[in-house]
Amino acid sequence: MMEKEKQLVKIEHLYKEFDSDTKVLKDINLTINKNEVIAILGPSGTGKSTLLRCLNYLTEPTSGVISISDVTVDAAHHTKKEILELRKHSSMVFQSYNLFKNKTALENVMEALTQVQKKPKAEAEKIALELLGKVGMLERKDFYPSKLSGGQQQRVGIARALAVNPNVLLFDEPTSALDPELVGEVLNTIKKLAEEGTTMILVTHEVGFAREVATRVLFMDGGQIAADGTPEKIIDHPENPRIRQFLNFVN
Ligand code: ADP
Ligand code: MG
Repeated sequence: MMEKEKQLVKIEHLYKEFDSDTKVLKDINLTINKNEVIAILGPSGTGKSTLLRCLNYLTEPTSGVISISDVTVDAAHHTKKEILELRKHSSMVFQSYNLFKNKTALENVMEALTQVQKKPKAEAEKIALELLGKVGMLERKDFYPSKLSGGQQQRVGIARALAVNPNVLLFDEPTSALDPELVGEVLNTIKKLAEEGTTMILVTHEVGFAREVATRVLFMDGGQIAADGTPEKIIDHPENPRIRQFLNFVN
C-alpha cells in the first residue's frame, strides 16, 4: 500500500488562541494513518478538546493546515465549502450525548441520514437498525432518551456518529459524564469498533482502557504533544516526568 493511501489525517503547524493571552494549541503536528486508534491523555485545560474541535472546525484554528482524506483546509484561506467537505469526513461523540428528546433511539440515528445525507427513509432505517445492532441497542430502538440509561444514550450517540460513515471517529471523554457502573458498556462498544479497524481519536481519562485498546497514545501538555508512542512506551514506561505525575494522579 502506498504511504499516501494509509495516511488519513494530517495536522500541520496548528495554532489556536482564543485571545492573545490564551494560546491553547501551540504548533501541533500530527499524522494519523487509517485504522489507528489514538488515545489522547493529558491534564485538564491542555487543549485536548480544542484539538478535536479544530479537526472539524467546530472551533476555527488561528493558523495551520488540516487534512482529512482528500480534503485540505488552511486556516489562512479557506472557503465555507471546504469546511463542509472537511466535516463530512469525521464525526464526534461528545461527553453529553445530546440526543433529540422527542425522537426515539432509531429516529435519532436516522436523523443524520435523512436530514444531512438526504437518504430515503427506508434506506435510512435499514442503516440505522444495523448501527443500533452494532452498539447493542436494537431491542431499545423505539425508546425515547428519557427511558434510556446514560450508557444506553451514549451508545445511541455512537450509532448516530457512525451513521454518516465518517473516515475518523472523534470521542471527547465519552464516559466521563456517566455513572461508574455504566462506563464499561460504552467502553466495550468503543473497543468493538476499534477491533473492527475504525480509525478513531479518543480523548479519555481511562488510562487502563487506552492501554488496552489504543494503538498509539499521545500525551498533551500545555497545548503541545509532549509524547507520542505506543501504549507500552507512553503508559508503561513513561520517560517524561509530567506523564508519570499525570498517571499517578489518575490511577
Ligand atoms: P482540555 O480538553 O484539555 O481540558 P480545552 O481544549 O477544553 O482543554 O481547553 C484548553 C484551554 O482553552 C483552557 O484554558 C480553556 O479555558 C480554553 N478555552 C477553551 N474553549 C474556549 C473558548 N471558547 N473561549 C476561550 N477559552 C477557551
Ligand atoms: Mg476537554
